[in-house]
Amino acid sequence: MFKREKPSLASQEFQTSYTELMSLSPHEVLRHFHLRHDQLIEKVSAESSQSKACAKGCAYCCHFKVVADAVEIFSMVDYVKTTLSAEQIEQIMQSAKQNVQEAKHLTHEQHATINQKCPLLMDSACVVYPVRSIKCRNFHATDNSGCQASYENPDDLSILNDSIPQLYVAATGSGDGFMAALHTAGYDDRLYDFNAAFIEAMEDPACQRRYDAGKRAFVTARYDND
Ligand code: SF4
Repeated sequence: MFKREKPSLASQEFQTSYTELMSLSPHEVLRHFHLRHDQLIEKVSAESSQSKACAKGCAYCCHFKVVADAVEIFSMVDYVKTTLSAEQIEQIMQSAKQNVQEAKHLTHEQHATINQKCPLLMDSACVVYPVRSIKCRNFHATDNSGCQASYENPDDLSILNDSIPQLYVAATGSGDGFMAALHTAGYDDRLYDFNAAFIEAMEDPACQRRYDAGKRAFVTARYDND
């Protein structure tokens, strides 16, 4: 007898996000996705016998190279503009510009071997936590000694952190489904260097217009396969 395969998390999320993108803006679909994704992470974490070591104040991973796709960057920019003070925004912009300056002559590979504090990390906390990127949402460790070792030896890319396998698979599948829906609906789904793309999005409204028109959103920020 024919046995119907259960759809994967990636294909379920693809269907849901793609259907929503037919009538809603990517920004709204991202907001819905965040709710589903966070619930999934919570459920899979609760079902696991392993626990995450991640806790407020531990921010080793916020010094590793950050990438995000355009709609996530626009969402973080909106959040920053509507919730932070002018002084905080100035600090973030200065920090992002310093990171870009430091990495501008590095290849992608070299960039991955240096520590750079994410400009959105302030007083050891993420100032855009509710709208942080999929990569940031998915990253976790069962023991932060691997994160610490990577932080202390940034050029040693062989150091791995211990994660919860089921959580890694579920969170990656869900994120991939969302990204595939953006791609199929005709939106830019490149993963950009966060610092440079964030500066562009803050300073140039044309980025959003290019994105809405289905074009490459950022023209100076590099993306992972650039
Ligand atoms: S966006 Fe937030 S969670 Fe992600 S690296 Fe920056 S400070 Fe850390």
